[in-house]
Amino acid sequence: MTQQIDIKSLYPEELAEQLGAEGYPKFRAKQICDWLNKGVVEFSQMNNIPRDLREFLNTRYYISVATIEKKFVSRYDKTVKYLFSLNDGEMVEAVVMHYHHGVSMCISTQVGCKMGCTFCATGKSGFSRDLTASEMLAQIEAAQKDLSLRIANIVLMGMGEPLDNFDNVVRFIKLVSSDGGLQIGMRHITLSTCGIVPKIYELAEQKLSINLAVSLHAPNDAIRSRTMPVAKAYPMDMLLKACRDYFDSTGRRVTFEYALISGVNDSDSHARELAQKLSGMNCHVNLIPVNAVEGTAYKKSDLQRQQSFVHILTAKGIAATIRRTLGSDINASCGQLKRNHIKEGGQ
Ligand code: SAH
Ligand code: SF4
Repeated sequence: MTQQIDIKSLYPEELAEQLGAEGYPKFRAKQICDWLNKGVVEFSQMNNIPRDLREFLNTRYYISVATIEKKFVSRYDKTVKYLFSLNDGEMVEAVVMHYHHGVSMCISTQVGCKMGCTFCATGKSGFSRDLTASEMLAQIEAAQKDLSLRIANIVLMGMGEPLDNFDNVVRFIKLVSSDGGLQIGMRHITLSTCGIVPKIYELAEQKLSINLAVSLHAPNDAIRSRTMPVAKAYPMDMLLKACRDYFDSTGRRVTFEYALISGVNDSDSHARELAQKLSGMNCHVNLIPVNAVEGTAYKKSDLQRQQSFVHILTAKGIAATIRRTLGSDINASCGQLKRNHIKEGGQ
């Protein structure tokens, strides 16, 4: 038997094309997509679709779902962390956060990650496979249904490197923001990358009005390549040039993520070096006290160090803020939940 097609990763016009090629009316595609958007997970429930077409759908296609395996709710700030299982039993994490400007969800783009950043729980667990567009959508749908709310913003900051799964991620962004889809506008979507330079250029060519975040985490290549192997392939000068070019071609301001790690990248001279590298750029620096991950010796910088770092940047004209930590009681940093689940004897 030929492999079944992932129906929720198709654009409606692709489904219409495929149905047409099999002799079914193309307008059925819209009806089917409406059911899928309502969260129906069985073709047999699509009661305005003729039986023969439903049977055809059942043999030719499958519907992706994200099933909640574990759920943790923070006592402090209503942050919810999920461990989802996918159709093939693989597991990914996602987090729902309540901000003043609405509900944001951090979703995964891969099962694991190939990039191997030393401070990251996902990086330590290795890589299993890419997620399909539908599996990214399924995480949002599952959370919206479980919490009875609407997700307003999406950040691609869960497990995985989005630009290492480029085609599926772009497809997801187009599907999730489309009129017939979940209608989360591109301006409400942030893609975070560890800095795969050629892919940043490819992304710019797509002309998507999403926000780009780049994980910098160091003021120079020597420090960066100690924690982020990707820095050896794409040095900082090249990366920062790609960010400048990205702004020039899209008009979208780039955000830099900088995890403050005690004694590694958080001194005043590191802050000055960073300010110099970023000077003249239209950007924002998000400082994040690093989340301690088991098996690493990294510790977050103390409050005074954090404040000194942010002051130096802002005094030198670089917009910078310290990100509020949400869900600190539920391991809200991605990758940790899955590692604990495996240790407990889960899959
Ligand atoms: N692969 C992408 C997106 C997923 S990681 C990227 O690296 O940008 C999302 C963010 O979490 C990145 O900025 C990453 O560097 C950061 N991160 C990973 N582990 C962390 C930790 N232990 N503490 C703080 N931030 C961490
Ligand atoms: Fe991958 Fe991002 Fe983690 Fe690095 S920080 S290992 S790129 S998920």
